[in-house]
Amino acid sequence: MERGIVMIENNRYLQRLNDGRNIWLDGDIIKNVGEHPAFKGTVHTIQSLLDLQTKTGSKSLLTYKTEEGLDANLSFFVPRTHEDLEKKRLAYQHWADQTFGVMSRLSEYSRSIITGWFANRSEYEDAHPGFSEKIESYYYQSRNLDLLSTVAGHDPQKDRSKTLVEKKPGILHISRKNREGIYVRGAKMIATAAPYVDEILIFSYHKRGENEREFANVFFVPVNAKGLHIVCRESFADGREEDHPLSARFDEMDAVLIFDDVFIPWERVLVQEDPEFAWKLRCDAPSSLLSQHQTVVRLVSKLESVAAIGNELAETAGATQFLHVKEKLAELIIQLETIKALLLASENKAKMHNGIMLPDQDFLTTARNLGTRFYPRALEIIQQIGAGGLLQVPSSLKELEGPIGPLLKEYYQGTETSAEDRTRLIKLSWDLLGSPLASRHELYERFYSGDPVRTYAAQYTNYKKRQNLVDYAYEILK
Ligand SMILES: Cc1cc2nc3c(=O)[nH]c(=O)nc-3n(C[C@H](O)[C@H](O)[C@H](O)COP(=O)(O)OP(=O)(O)OC[C@H]3O[C@@H](n4cnc5c(N)ncnc54)[C@H](O)[C@@H]3O)c2cc1C
Repeated sequence: MERGIVMIENNRYLQRLNDGRNIWLDGDIIKNVGEHPAFKGTVHTIQSLLDLQTKTGSKSLLTYKTEEGLDANLSFFVPRTHEDLEKKRLAYQHWADQTFGVMSRLSEYSRSIITGWFANRSEYEDAHPGFSEKIESYYYQSRNLDLLSTVAGHDPQKDRSKTLVEKKPGILHISRKNREGIYVRGAKMIATAAPYVDEILIFSYHKRGENEREFANVFFVPVNAKGLHIVCRESFADGREEDHPLSARFDEMDAVLIFDDVFIPWERVLVQEDPEFAWKLRCDAPSSLLSQHQTVVRLVSKLESVAAIGNELAETAGATQFLHVKEKLAELIIQLETIKALLLASENKAKMHNGIMLPDQDFLTTARNLGTRFYPRALEIIQQIGAGGLLQVPSSLKELEGPIGPLLKEYYQGTETSAEDRTRLIKLSWDLLGSPLASRHELYERFYSGDPVRTYAAQYTNYKKRQNLVDYAYEILK
C-alpha cells in the first residue's frame, strides 16, 4: 500500500469517480461523473487541488514527509507543537483560498477527525479492544492513498416529535451480522461532497440513549459499496462560468445516503451498538478540536472573500463616501478580523493533551458560533450596499460585444471601472448572494456545524462559569 501523494493524472481521479457508485440525480444513476454538466466543474476544481500537492511552491505548504518518507497531506499530520498547528493552519488556508472559502468539504474536516482518533487511540485501548488497531490501519490507508472523504452524522428529519425507536425503519441500524461484518439499513443526511469522495465516515451527531443501542454505530463506508444510494439534491452548477463564476466551479453537492442492506466488514466498524463509546468518540477532544480548527480557517477565507467583494462593489459605485456604507464595510472587516483573532488565539492558548497539541476549545467554539450569525449578516450587508446595482447587468457578459454593446459599455461602467469589469463583479456578487448556490451557502453557514440554537446553548452549558464568571462577580462585590 505504500504510496503517499503522487501526481494524479486526470483520468486516475476520474476512474476513481466511475467506480460503480450509485449517484442519483434527476431520477438516473450518473454514469460518467467527471463529464456530467452537474459535476464537471467541481470535479475539475478538485483535480486542480489534488495537483497542487505535487507542484513546486504549493507542495511544501500542503504536505509533509511521513516517518516512512512518503508525502502526505498536512490534514493527517499530528501536531505536537505550536509551530505544527501553525503549519496545519497555513495548509488549510492555502487549500481554502483556492475556492475562496466556498468549498468546505475538501476532506480536511473528516481527515482531522480520523487523525484525532488515531492520535488519541491509546485512550480507548483498555476499554475498547480492537479500536486502536482498526483506527491505526484505517488512518494509514487513508493517509497513504490520499483518500478523499466526508462525514454524515444526522438522521433524516422524518418526524422530530417521534423517538428513534418509533421511526426505526428509517434510522440507520444493523439489520444483520455475521463473522465477516455487519449489514446496515436506513438513511443518513446530509453528506456534503459525497459524489466526489472515496469514503464516508458514518457516526451519530446526537447522543444515543441506552434504549437506542441499535442506532449507536460508527463506521467507514466506501462510496461504491453495494446497496449504498447517494441521492443528490438538485444541481446548482451552471456551466456558464463567465456569468456564474462560483456556481460553475464550486457546487459541492449535498446528498442523502440510503443504505439498502450495505455490508461493512468488521475492520471498518469502530463502534457497534454502543451508545457510550459512540458518544466518547463524538466528544473526543483531539478529533473535535482538530476538525473545528480547520472549519474556522475555512470561515476566515470565506469572510475575506465577502469583505473583498463588498468593498469593491462600494468602491466601483462611488459609495464609500457615505457614512453608513463605511460603517457597513467596517462591519465586514470586523467580522473577518474577529474570526482571525479567535483562530490565532486558539493556537496561542493551545495545550498538550496526551502528547497532541490542541487549539483552545472556547475560542474555536466562539468563532464557529459567531460564524452562523456573521455570514447571513454579511450577505445582508452586500445587499444593502449593492442595492439595485446588483441587477444592473446584462443577462450575459457576451451582450457587451453584441448589437447594443457600445450602449451597455457606456451605461454599465462604474467609477474608473469598465462596464466589463463592473459586470463581472456584479455577476460574482449575485452568485454569492442571489443564486441557488448562494442560498445553499447561507443555509450551510447557519447549520453545517449543528443547530445553532443548540450549539449556542451547549457553549453556555460547557463554559467554565464558576471559574470564569461567578468568582469574578463576587470579586466585584468585595
Ligand atoms: C447545506 C448543508 C450541508 C450539510 N452538510 C453536512 C455534512 O456534510 N455532514 C453532516 O453530518 N451534516 C451536514 N449537515 C447537517 C447539519 O449538521 C444539520 O442540518 C444540523 O445539525 C441541523 O439538523 P437538522 O437539519 O436535522 O435540523 P433539526 O435538528 O431537525 O432542526 C430543525 C428545527 O427544529 C428545531 N429542533 C429540532 N429538534 C430540536 C431539539 N431537540 N431541541 C431544540 N430544537 C430542536 C431546531 O432548532 C430547528 O429550528 C448539513 C446541513 C446543511 C444545511
